[in-house]
Amino acid sequence: MVIGGGPAGNVAATVASTLGAEVVVIERDIVGGASHLLDCIPSKALIATGGELSELGRARIMGLDATGRLDIAALRSRVAAIEERLHRSVVEQLESQGVRLLRGTGTLTGPHEVAVQTDEGIESFEADTIVLATGSRSRIPTWAEIDHDRVLTTRDAYPPPEIPEHLCVIGSGVTGVEFAHMFNSLGSEVTLVVSRQQVLPRKDPEVAAVLEEEFLRRGIHLLKGARAEGISRTDSGVTVACEDGRSVDATHALLCIGLVPNSEGLGLSEAGVTAVEDGTIPINRHCQSNVDHIYVAGDLSGKLPLSSVAAMQGRKIAEHLMGLYTLQHRHIDYDKAASAIFTDPEIADVGLAEAEAFADGRKIRVTKVPFATNAAALIQGDPRGFVKLISDPTTGVVLGGSIVGRHAAELIGVIAVAVTNGLTTSDIVDSLLVHPSMSESLTDAAS
Ligand SMILES: Cc1cc2nc3c(=O)[nH]c(=O)nc-3n(C[C@H](O)[C@H](O)[C@H](O)COP(=O)(O)OP(=O)(O)OC[C@H]3O[C@@H](n4cnc5c(N)ncnc54)[C@H](O)[C@@H]3O)c2cc1C
Repeated sequence: MVIGGGPAGNVAATVASTLGAEVVVIERDIVGGASHLLDCIPSKALIATGGELSELGRARIMGLDATGRLDIAALRSRVAAIEERLHRSVVEQLESQGVRLLRGTGTLTGPHEVAVQTDEGIESFEADTIVLATGSRSRIPTWAEIDHDRVLTTRDAYPPPEIPEHLCVIGSGVTGVEFAHMFNSLGSEVTLVVSRQQVLPRKDPEVAAVLEEEFLRRGIHLLKGARAEGISRTDSGVTVACEDGRSVDATHALLCIGLVPNSEGLGLSEAGVTAVEDGTIPINRHCQSNVDHIYVAGDLSGKLPLSSVAAMQGRKIAEHLMGLYTLQHRHIDYDKAASAIFTDPEIADVGLAEAEAFADGRKIRVTKVPFATNAAALIQGDPRGFVKLISDPTTGVVLGGSIVGRHAAELIGVIAVAVTNGLTTSDIVDSLLVHPSMSESLTDAAS
């Protein structure tokens, strides 16, 4: 029994079924995953549209004369079409593997028992193994009341019926900066409330600095060292009040201050499963909870909240429960997960960060190559950003890297493969890459 049909649940189900298990997936909302299909995908679709608008703005330097006008109705149908297509492809894949999909809300009623509330009533199941993959939702603080009109969560913003005139984005982590960038490129005035002195507080300061500079150049207001503590409605929109007395008047406010796991009402105590205070369920390296046959995957597990991580956990769970675990089995190394931030320029990183290495007193070799010397970047008219590669000074093993610039989310794949497989800088240097291409900067950084 798999409760939750997001990337974690549907990959666990598909792989377990391929390996011979009889599988039922219970989903209360949309197969493919609410956070995945209703958050991750539309946000990237809107960013892509904003990106095209920015490209039109750059047309003149490419020797073109072009204008663009946003058609919100067309944009909304485009986002809906992408979601529908991805949803269908997940459903088709699950059904083609013989997985039973059941629409309803699943609850544990015992260690092996699951009750499903469907439109027709309650259906009860007994299962050898249960996978909990119920995902997460936006965190809403007590001082904010979401009205889905002027005070929004990310899910209200794909896009709202009209592009906000002035949007105040609260929170400057990955989601906050992506939404600030998205709405700025779609034409909104944007104020970003940054609780510390740096956007993306967990990222490399050099990386964050490039983004801050770009935000300021594009007219995004940064309210630094400001903690929001209240939002009130006004005649013209909203006022966001901060703890230090500063405030922002805007037409809309958007909360991007983190996620909470969907673990309440799941019947954890009936099954003897232990959760921690923040609602996530601790797991061992096989993704098992404290109850051996109850696995946990995705955002509910409190590991990195990424679709890629959720899907990988789903696959590893299926292999483990179907007995494919061997001594050669590779456990998930969460420290080696690549991630990207879809701003302009894009930001991506993987593995060890420079600041982390210095904090641990670890000796590293850091090489940084700006895209300003890359032929492909110059041809594309966008030489912003850099590649930073971190390696072991003795063995040359690649330990991590950051990329800021065009196509960073794609380029980081090369470094991710190197980090995961213990490849060395020489392995990258000896690879014959395309010329002219942005990836040549990876070879330069590895040289
Ligand atoms: C705005 C935003 C942008 C993001 N962008 C990215 C990105 O660019 N890249 C990336 O890798 N990740 C991104 N993420 C994170 C990513 O969406 C999540 O990490 C991922 O969806 C987690 O997968 P999951 O399977 O754990 O949960 P979900 O995708 O949320 O799926 C869980 C499913 O369980 C269902 N469910 C919950 N409770 C029950 C129940 N009791 N019974 C039945 N069904 C239930 C829910 O309806 C849901 O469909 C983003 C998240 C947000 C909010």
